[in-house]
Amino acid sequence: MGVPELIYRILCVYKQGDKGSTGITIVFTTRSKNDILVRAENLLRSLSQRTFPRFVMIRVTFLGTSASQPTLRRNVSAIAIQRNGDSFLFDCGEGTQRQMMRYGTGFGCDGIYVTHLHADHCLGISGLLRTMGLQGRTAAMNIYGPEKSQMILDQIVELGVGRVPFPVFVHELKSGDRVDHDGYHIEAFSVEHGLPALGYALLEEERPGRFDVALAHKMGIPEGPLFSALHSGNPVEIDGRWIRPEEIVGPARPGRKLVYTGDTRPNEVVKTMAKGASLLIHEATFAEEEKTRAKETRHSTAREAAIVARDAGVSELLLTHISSRYSDNPSGLLNEAQSIFPKVAVARDGQVFEISHEDNEQ
Ligand SMILES: [Zn+2]
Ligand SMILES: [Zn+2]
Repeated sequence: MGVPELIYRILCVYKQGDKGSTGITIVFTTRSKNDILVRAENLLRSLSQRTFPRFVMIRVTFLGTSASQPTLRRNVSAIAIQRNGDSFLFDCGEGTQRQMMRYGTGFGCDGIYVTHLHADHCLGISGLLRTMGLQGRTAAMNIYGPEKSQMILDQIVELGVGRVPFPVFVHELKSGDRVDHDGYHIEAFSVEHGLPALGYALLEEERPGRFDVALAHKMGIPEGPLFSALHSGNPVEIDGRWIRPEEIVGPARPGRKLVYTGDTRPNEVVKTMAKGASLLIHEATFAEEEKTRAKETRHSTAREAAIVARDAGVSELLLTHISSRYSDNPSGLLNEAQSIFPKVAVARDGQVFEISHEDNEQ
């Protein structure tokens, strides 16, 4: 095995077994090639023998938090979600591609989930696809939108003279439809915005129960692959005796849930979807002083969003889609929301939010 292949394999194993660390450094000095190979093989072996299944972070990057029009501080709607090598967007307003460069999300985006067809949520798709083409992308792109969005999304994809040099598939979703991914799915749900509009929830599969390390030691199970096998639900044999996973591992624990509303009046569907969510991203276009306007334009106030979060029992609430009048100073929105639900913040462009497990365990 040559050095480049070894390094590739180490990085693959490291990525799968990573427990929250962010990188690995392989230092090449003047050592002989053989010395490097031995050290790399040892590293590969130790990483392969990690005890537990992988720890996966969900990273949310706010690319645009302004309602309807950009301001100096805020671009229009887009959120990048990254999970275990997958990367996709919720909404893609004009200028999203530049925000992706600015905030380092990269262009390895697998899909775009559009909540509705107001221009501030979808006009950025056209330019983004062309830049991806210029950068040599060949992988297909999937774009999802609400009912009756196919024609306009197709037009946005086709806009301009040059063609997009990779396949682009547009899919219409109905409330309750789900798109499956490895270890999680994205579920669409109807929201209330005066036109076909969806919110999206990322729902993870259950993860294995808590592993009783002390008991495992007592039973003479050596750390390493056998721990991993038991934690993944497989029986193992020690000195002729079979040990079942339920002897060592507790009941399965729920996965994480992330809910994004897009533009909407506060409503019961959102409350139901957001029950127990790790993070609710709710639009909060207006303050209470404009609650009549919020009703007329089918948006929410910060206070209304906070009531949804409180009733749904979410862990954290982030407010986005902020009207330009509060762009520089959203403290009024924050105060109104905080009086109802304390674990709230007003999102800002470039903000990164990482969702770990409630118990901070793998
Ligand atoms: Zn909007
Ligand atoms: Zn809208």
